[in-house]
Amino acid sequence: MNDAKIRLHVDQPLGPGQTVNLDRDQAHYLFGVMRLVEGAGVLLFNGRDGEWLARVQDAGKRGGVLIGEAQTKPQGAPPNLWLLFAPVKKARTDFIVEKAVEMGVARLVPVTTEFTNSERVRVDRLQAHAREAAEQCGATWVPEVAEPIRLDRLLAGWDSARTIMYCDEAAPSGMAALRAADLGNSADPAPGAWAILIGPEGGFSNSERTRLRGLDYGCTVSLGPRILRADTAAVAALTLWQVQLGDWR
Ligand code: SAM
Repeated sequence: MNDAKIRLHVDQPLGPGQTVNLDRDQAHYLFGVMRLVEGAGVLLFNGRDGEWLARVQDAGKRGGVLIGEAQTKPQGAPPNLWLLFAPVKKARTDFIVEKAVEMGVARLVPVTTEFTNSERVRVDRLQAHAREAAEQCGATWVPEVAEPIRLDRLLAGWDSARTIMYCDEAAPSGMAALRAADLGNSADPAPGAWAILIGPEGGFSNSERTRLRGLDYGCTVSLGPRILRADTAAVAALTLWQVQLGDWR
């Protein structure tokens, strides 16, 4: 019987009878915070073997042991979608990462642009947020949070097979991404590789805007007639893409 509600990402193999050793933080969360006891069920996933129901065999203060029982979900895969986002204030950047994981991305890339003015990005902290969001939303993978990269460097090494949906508040709102023509054929079962690009609080500079609008592999879209905060824009763009091309269809 699957009575488990708590989900935990582990970086260990999962399978029937498989032993999973918990680290101190995981043990504290399961046994100290969530008060689980021996015999309790936990849902585990590792990004490779799907989701597994496991039972607490040993509940300790500094560690613990779970034993794999049955697979509860096959290994899923995120849409082939990256989110390229200019870091903004910490709380809002955390929000962007959390919402992107819930809404379905494969990778998150912090991009520094001319007007990016946020403090240094702590990738380990954002990766922890991504893991918690994956545990909460039922994903069987955790998107990677990449090291920050400057926009010009990112474009210099870009694989043109991956289309960039460039969100530009100065784009005529007639270019709203709802039109299939802007975002490719929504009937296509596999839309190919995409990335959504969201700028910083101060927006893109004129030279960045000119370059982005001129990309052969770019698709400039408007997110409506009002200026959205970067975190709002990320959610709006992800919604548009998912409804039009993603796994919400
Ligand atoms: N430059 C804006 C201004 O004049 O206040 C601020 C930029 S906005 C806070 C941050 C980013 O969100 C933009 O660079 C863009 O990528 C995206 N964005 C915001 N509103 C948008 C809209 N209506 N259409 C398309 N993108 C938008």
